[in-house]
Amino acid sequence: MDKNTRPEKKEIAAATLAALGEFGLIERIRQRVRANPAVLTGIGDDCSVCTFPPGEVLLTTKDLLLEDIHFRRTWIDMYSLGWKSAAVNLSDIAAMGGTALYVHLGLGIPAETALDDLEAFMHGFLSLCDQENTTLCGGDTCRSVQGLCISVTVQGSIPQAELCQRSGATPGDIIYVSGTLGDSALALLQLLEGEKPEAHIALRHYRPQPRLQLGRALASQRLASAMIDLSDGIFADLGHILERSGCGAELDTRLIPLSASVQQHLHQQPQRRTQVLKGGEDYELLFTAPAEQQQRIAQLSAELNVPLTAVGKILPAQEGLRSIDHCGITHTSMRENKSDASNPGGFNHFRA
Ligand code: ADP
Ligand code: MG
Repeated sequence: MDKNTRPEKKEIAAATLAALGEFGLIERIRQRVRANPAVLTGIGDDCSVCTFPPGEVLLTTKDLLLEDIHFRRTWIDMYSLGWKSAAVNLSDIAAMGGTALYVHLGLGIPAETALDDLEAFMHGFLSLCDQENTTLCGGDTCRSVQGLCISVTVQGSIPQAELCQRSGATPGDIIYVSGTLGDSALALLQLLEGEKPEAHIALRHYRPQPRLQLGRALASQRLASAMIDLSDGIFADLGHILERSGCGAELDTRLIPLSASVQQHLHQQPQRRTQVLKGGEDYELLFTAPAEQQQRIAQLSAELNVPLTAVGKILPAQEGLRSIDHCGITHTSMRENKSDASNPGGFNHFRA
């Protein structure tokens, strides 16, 4: 039988992970995966076997999510954790302009983890995979002695000529961002401060929507010269584009699109502005495009019903990164220390 065909819904009676065991758990996961004819062999063999669009190039991305480094079990429900684990990887495929095809999931699970929690995790994970037509084809499962470890690999494809890399920006290009920024960072800040974020702000933190459709459209219409997804914050992620493209930029922070909730919050608590803008985890797209594409970008924004807002322009490298603050004052940072410059103001795991 095709290993990827979903069998009759069958309940395995087991209350604990210990009773179910590694293979019982894998079987449960297998039963929940939606069938996909492009997956010739899915969960159950030594390797997954998948077809690939002829003439396209392979995109592969991987992210690790570790308990107490990336998430706290007391702050995020398991459905959202599953969703977000898929979202952060799918967002990387979006940022290249690609189509997401196949997913592999590595899990290190503490023995005492409740089965219901794992079910909720897989439900969130597979719901987003289903929404984006990607298929979980395999993975690895083992016991963890400390904390839940999640490792997701997503593979996608794209015609090589349509690739949107970080290196493609040129002076004169306009810098755009999709959607609104800062919602996720505000939610996190409020959680850290023991405040309760508004429900829709919290959702942007817990269940980000990867911009796959937008990324694909920008790539297939050859609109974006460079692109990145906003995971570390706009300053850090724009910094990555500048470094890879060998350019400088002017970023007018007054133009950064903010939701009504974030605007209102920053009106009351203006001292949080920088933290909210630098916070990251928006999973929106930042891209650059030649000025003459302005009209087509506005058209695409209307077609997809996704705000695409110009927030600055690319400059020659010697101009550094000029950022205009909310008072209209320009701050210039030159990228001298390479290791720091690649992540200015953003999150860095090995920095104090
Ligand atoms: P191997 O010994 O070859 O590593 P495993 O016994 O670890 O195989 O896994 C059995 C099958 O289950 C493989 O097809 C593997 O890809 C799949 N698998 C294991 N863990 C997961 C998981 N967390 N999610 C999806 N598939 C998984
Ligand atoms: Mg294995």
